[in-house]
Amino acid sequence: MAKASTTKSATLVTRPPIVVIMGHVDHGKSTLLDYIRHTNIVAGEAGGITQHISAYEVVHKSQGKESRITFLDTPGHAAFQGMRSRGAKVADIAVLVVSAEDGVKTQTLEAHKAIKESGIPYVVAINKIDKPNANIERTKLSLAEAEIYVEGYGGDVPCAPISAKTGDGVSELLDVILLVAEMSELTGDSMASGEGVVIEARMDPKKGATTTIVVTNGTFMKGTCAASGVGVVPVRIMEDFLGRAVETATFSSPIRLSGWSTLPDVGAVVHTYATKKEAESHATRKETTPKREDRKLKDGGVHIPIILRADVAGSLEALEHEIAKLTHDRVLLKIIQKGVGAISESDIKLAASVDGPIVIAFHTKADALAQDLASRANITIHQFDIIYKLSEWLEEEMLRRAPHFEKEQQLGEFRIIRCFSQQKDRQVIGGAVTSGVVQVGARFRIMRRDAEIGEGKIVEVQSQKTRVSEVSEGLECGLQIESKFTLAERDVLIPFSIVRTQ
Ligand code: GDP
Repeated sequence: MAKASTTKSATLVTRPPIVVIMGHVDHGKSTLLDYIRHTNIVAGEAGGITQHISAYEVVHKSQGKESRITFLDTPGHAAFQGMRSRGAKVADIAVLVVSAEDGVKTQTLEAHKAIKESGIPYVVAINKIDKPNANIERTKLSLAEAEIYVEGYGGDVPCAPISAKTGDGVSELLDVILLVAEMSELTGDSMASGEGVVIEARMDPKKGATTTIVVTNGTFMKGTCAASGVGVVPVRIMEDFLGRAVETATFSSPIRLSGWSTLPDVGAVVHTYATKKEAESHATRKETTPKREDRKLKDGGVHIPIILRADVAGSLEALEHEIAKLTHDRVLLKIIQKGVGAISESDIKLAASVDGPIVIAFHTKADALAQDLASRANITIHQFDIIYKLSEWLEEEMLRRAPHFEKEQQLGEFRIIRCFSQQKDRQVIGGAVTSGVVQVGARFRIMRRDAEIGEGKIVEVQSQKTRVSEVSEGLECGLQIESKFTLAERDVLIPFSIVRTQ
């Protein structure tokens, strides 16, 4: 069956914009989202938000007209790069927040790149204008230097000076967003079957596999069935962003849908179908993340199998992204199992079946059975709450496990002048150090007329009848050595040490 959303319909109407806020850490993204949430969600309802939501809808009044805007509240940490750039794909418009104190920073550039790549229009919000060191002109110049040309500074990117703290200019920013939306001519077909994008996916202890979806077209109706990837879900437990049960939801609303057979990935597209059978026939096993070509390992390299569990799909994705960045010539981190939720018994069973596994629980734990099995199988479950701590630890672990190579390093050269005695393997000889040093404990190769005939070890070094630890070039000394080979005058000993390299 052709998806209704792909067919042109006479029921096309303007739809509210979906907006993502991006920018450098600490430049005020969360503060801006908080401010808008508190001032633009219909009075009394804002208090209804009891848990973190990754998207919400606001109403903005402009020139007597009320318009809806959906904001995506995507995590701001740099490690959430994957999700942030996806955020830009779900979104129709981006707001690039730049601090009027600091100007353009690395993540401003990263965010700008992601926005440009996604091809959506964007506006710049110059934030923190209430601060004494704020300088709007300087910020605009720093934007221009970064090739972000705002209006009046060589370009046409709309720009709004704001204070996310005092709210100054925020209403004007919303006006600008609506203007950009109008120019983008965003439309949706309310008669079409529902279509949306997953922006959050997690296991809820009570509701099971739960997703937050932003409806991008059509209508999600109770009684239908949705599919995404391999997962299907009856549209039964559907809530709006305030957690209220709803019968229908249309664009561009965020909804929460629970009860998935398999949790879809963040960024996955969801479609609704009239029947469960139809949904199931559309649920296909699609490759979620394109498989990376296995990196080549140098000879003697090791694989480290990793089992990874995180509390939410967004974190899981961020962790995979971070882990992919950790590289070493002779160590390859390989995620052999991953998922959202607690470490399970099957994770531990898998860990027990491979060599040197690393089991990671990020913001999650192991269930009781897994815990028990892990302690019996002597498998450690490594718990982390902070991504960079995990990266640091993994990096160290890679170095610890990287195969070490032993290399000979020549210490010097010793020419035998006299052979004094031999008792079993022990021999006493005298000679001169012709280069470098000879050291007690060093191994040596024996050279006879340029051919290597064997090896030995220096047991004792004597210089002028005194035992010393080493003798250097130009001096004569006596050596007691250990070797299976009988030494002769004019043989050359090449002492060497073993150095370990990575
Ligand atoms: P994010 O990392 O981009 O989400 O930044 P936050 O919203 O967490 O803001 C970082 C810090 O800057 C916080 O201490 C905020 O209170 C402060 N902040 C954000 N916007 C403003 C603003 O407009 N004015 C002032 N004075 N402080 C702000």
